[in-house]
Amino acid sequence: MSRPVRVRFAPSPTGPLHPGGVRTALFNYLFARQHGGTFILRVEDTDQTRFVPGAEAFIVESLSWCGIRFDEGVHLGGPHAPYRQSERKAMYRQYAEQLVQSGHAYYAFDSEEELEAMRERLKAAQVASPQYNSITRVNMKNSLSLPHDEVKRRLDAGDPYVIRFRMPRQEEVKVKDMIRGWVVVNTAQLDDKVLFKSDGMPTYHLANVVDDYLMDISHVIRGEEWLPSTPLHVLLYRAFGWEEKMPEFAHLPLLLKPDGDGKLSKRDGDRLGLPFYATSWTNPETGEVTPGYRETGYFPEAYVNFLALLGWNPGDNREIFSLEELVSAFSVERIQKHGARYDFNKLNWFNQHYLRLQSDTDLAKAVMPELQQRGHDFNKIYVEEVCRLMKERWTLVSDFWTSSAFFFEMPADYDEQVKAKKWTPEIGAFMLKLASAFETMKDFEPAEVEASFRSCCEKEGFKANAILQALRLALSGQGSGPALFEMASLLGQEECIRRLKLAKQVLG
Ligand code: GLU
Repeated sequence: MSRPVRVRFAPSPTGPLHPGGVRTALFNYLFARQHGGTFILRVEDTDQTRFVPGAEAFIVESLSWCGIRFDEGVHLGGPHAPYRQSERKAMYRQYAEQLVQSGHAYYAFDSEEELEAMRERLKAAQVASPQYNSITRVNMKNSLSLPHDEVKRRLDAGDPYVIRFRMPRQEEVKVKDMIRGWVVVNTAQLDDKVLFKSDGMPTYHLANVVDDYLMDISHVIRGEEWLPSTPLHVLLYRAFGWEEKMPEFAHLPLLLKPDGDGKLSKRDGDRLGLPFYATSWTNPETGEVTPGYRETGYFPEAYVNFLALLGWNPGDNREIFSLEELVSAFSVERIQKHGARYDFNKLNWFNQHYLRLQSDTDLAKAVMPELQQRGHDFNKIYVEEVCRLMKERWTLVSDFWTSSAFFFEMPADYDEQVKAKKWTPEIGAFMLKLASAFETMKDFEPAEVEASFRSCCEKEGFKANAILQALRLALSGQGSGPALFEMASLLGQEECIRRLKLAKQVLG
């Protein structure tokens, strides 16, 4: 690769960034890092009707949480600033005009009603996809069909117009895609796309190609939905005489629903009660906050690892990759053509993996806010010990409280099934004996607790195994949990005695 690698992520700020967008940014980032290249964040906000306030900040925030860093961009500046297309507005018109001068584009004066009437006419004539193209343009009001002086008169009078690309009638356009190979499209299927709008703004197609050229982008890596636009982009490079600077293209496979057919959508997350965005999104109109993966207890390492394997694989059965490992393992050649299922269970699996790798100290830090919120002030070492004992059972950090509340509060209720099966008045009486035995203990380490329990069983004529679950019930209110004597030891001598007495009182 002789040309320096310069890639860009070019989102339109039309709402919160979807997982597909995060994956596109990630693949661009990996590609840039792998080739010692430059990664750029360009915001494509030329469609004022779809602009959503806060979307740009959200994109920056989400990607930064994922550890995806840029070298140039809206939030960083750089040699090609500004990186927000609305701020580059003034420079696009000259490029559109240049294409009109060279005969590759033309002015079109048609009103909305005239365009609608054309579509109706074509529909009535059973044309499958009615469009403004080399055939229909001759009957419309544009600088190719109208007499020269009429065009001049309209332009001088300030009549509103758009600039359209003059799509050749029958031409094979070959697009080389790094993932799909050669894609051939006949221009007969393409329409005369608007390049420049009557509001003075370029459309996506013009601004995207002009900026890729001006920013010296070497590779365009983007979602599959842009593949149909690529022949037009290739023709634009040719029309401008920029073919030598044309980037290579790679179109990433779609993200599919976790189940069933079709494209992944936010509704799939809603349906499964799972988050969909990387970080929390505040709807600017309603103020409604949608928590993201970050707020729900997912680790960015897990999310990134999960996304990387959606449509890409390392060629062997490795699944666990840090961001740095991805940088060296990644290759565009190993990106698949077919869609990739967005399997939420797999994401949970990754999260469980990364959760177990966390140190107890870090986990304790992560659960502390929840404890404080609930008005508990336990010492750090105790919380770390709870994390050590319980983390095996968590998928998310937020599973902490549901699984471990009993370490911080007396059981508020007791598992009904275990109570029915394992608790008897005799066992209730035994628990008081055990409490007395505990009272005499000096050391309350797990081994000592177990020994004291076993000798008490022997003395009272019980089989230890028959009582284990009742003991767990008395101490935690639950039927299952971590290693019993470790749990008791951690709860501590006084607390265990108190709980045994309470259980006798409540359960009888
Ligand atoms: N603005 C386009 C988007 O929102 C960019 C597509 C491209 O990367 O060319 O996805």
